[in-house]
Amino acid sequence: MNSPSASVTAVVAAAGSGERLGAGGPKAFVPLAGRAMVEWSIAALRAAAGVRSIVVACPPGHVHELGGRDLGVVEGGAARSQSVANALEAVGTDLVVVHDAARPLLTPQLVEGVVGTLAADPEADGAIAATPVVDTIKRAADRVVGATVDRASLWAAQTPQAFRVEALRRALAGDPGLVAAATDEAMLVEAAGGRVLIHPAPPGNLKVTTPTDLKLAELLLAERSGH
Ligand code: C5P
Repeated sequence: MNSPSASVTAVVAAAGSGERLGAGGPKAFVPLAGRAMVEWSIAALRAAAGVRSIVVACPPGHVHELGGRDLGVVEGGAARSQSVANALEAVGTDLVVVHDAARPLLTPQLVEGVVGTLAADPEADGAIAATPVVDTIKRAADRVVGATVDRASLWAAQTPQAFRVEALRRALAGDPGLVAAATDEAMLVEAAGGRVLIHPAPPGNLKVTTPTDLKLAELLLAERSGH
């Protein structure tokens, strides 16, 4: 793409069922500001310097809905990390950047920033977009608060997440129970002893989970495209 030393493959996790959104189909294919939700992430990744190709993990039955010379499409797995593992089989670069289709407000700058943070530290195995936690955090059992957690060192992890491919492959080949339960790939790299860096994300890289999130994303994307 834009960089002469292009060596990053992007993997998009888009194989979730979207039950919490209740849109009657997979979340990644819900219409959003004029295109399927996953198309927004693909467009941002295509515009990011250094991204050579893109592999999308889709729900069964949707693999023929996406296309393009630079786009590979694979069937996803039962859990998100299994979807990422399926996509990783098609990756031939040293670096990979993993992104959730559920974050359609992705910008090329954030992709480049996360990859740049990883590339700048030869000791690092991964770098993740994250924001400092702003809420006061309680630990509770049966809705009774047991403790207030000091938020000073807490970050909310997002995607994109960039990894050295070999480190991510090793992490995904770990304990199958852990892999199936993982809510991001960084936690598997951490569990394998890897060094994962934080790349502070700008506000607005929101995750679409509920119908309210979808409305907000619609407004923000419409504003971005000048409508
Ligand atoms: O369920 P949640 O919204 O946390 O999913 C995060 C991302 O992981 C979504 O983009 C979803 O499409 C993807 N996913 C996947 N394969 C699964 C489950 C989720 O690619 N089996």
